[in-house]
Amino acid sequence: MAEVLKGKPVADAMKEELKNKVAALKERGITPTLGIIRVGARPDDLFYEGGAKKTCDAVNMAYQVFEYPEDISQEAFEQAVTEVGNNPGIHGILMFAPLPKHLNEKKIRELIPVEKDVDCLTLGGAAKIFADDPTGFPPCTPTACMDMLHFYDIPIKGKRCVVLGRSLVVGKPVAMLLLREHGTVTICHSRTVDLPKVCQEAEILIAAVGRAKMVKADFVKPGQIVIDVGINEDPDNPGKYCGDVDFAEVEPIVAKITPVPAGVGSVTTAVLCKQTIMACELQNP
Ligand code: NDP
Repeated sequence: MAEVLKGKPVADAMKEELKNKVAALKERGITPTLGIIRVGARPDDLFYEGGAKKTCDAVNMAYQVFEYPEDISQEAFEQAVTEVGNNPGIHGILMFAPLPKHLNEKKIRELIPVEKDVDCLTLGGAAKIFADDPTGFPPCTPTACMDMLHFYDIPIKGKRCVVLGRSLVVGKPVAMLLLREHGTVTICHSRTVDLPKVCQEAEILIAAVGRAKMVKADFVKPGQIVIDVGINEDPDNPGKYCGDVDFAEVEPIVAKITPVPAGVGSVTTAVLCKQTIMACELQNP
């Protein structure tokens, strides 16, 4: 039986710490504020936005939602994002992506000032992660994975870490963060040969593939720590969701595992607030 590493205690501890930071900033007359940029009203975006607002409220920071119609023109949207970026009362920006197809997302992302890019949408933000610049903000999910490992006192230094997935949102940045903390990191992807064997060599396995229950018993071994980032529709339970790891098969074998739901996903909005507050502190030394 593995120890199940839940996300809620991690998020709760983080929120307590953040409340103190917000109080200290407010004493200086500064209210850390998250700007949420949303085009249209996709249910997934609204769901995440609801969670982000709730967490902002819980830590006593502010948020402002900037909502635009789905048919907004490139020119009008560029102007809108530039205005939000220049707004001195907004310290961190979350922009939902992907944007509607008629918009040039690559160009628009770069209008977010790097110092306000708390979810790593810009190339400048990504460069900071690659260069181990502590003023850069990784995407919230990789930070949440690291915060889970830290909270549960899981050592990273010298450990063999395998990251399953190489996206810009999860796989690559989490690999960089593990490397920063002296893990020995292997990144796997769809062309990796003998994937189960490579994964079995890990002491820490991070699964971010977006394939329901793909990580089976033959991917793991006793003693491993498994962090499951996946959020997929559960093929066996319509209307529910599951991770990239087959929990029922893997949990009896490994030492520690994060559940889905109630694992990494429960920490991401607390990370969003943490990074916005950090951005606010950096903008107000
Ligand atoms: P992407 O689809 O962008 O990337 C998936 C990665 O997995 C790719 O690198 C791909 O390889 C690799 N991959 C896909 N299929 C296989 C396979 N059969 N064998 C080996 N590698 C494979 O997904 P994301 O990184 O955006 O997301 C990953 C998961 O994490 C999803 O379930 C997503 O819902 C979830 N997620 C969860 C968040 C949270 O807050 N908990 C936030 C963001 C994402 P290749 O590059 O070769 O194509």
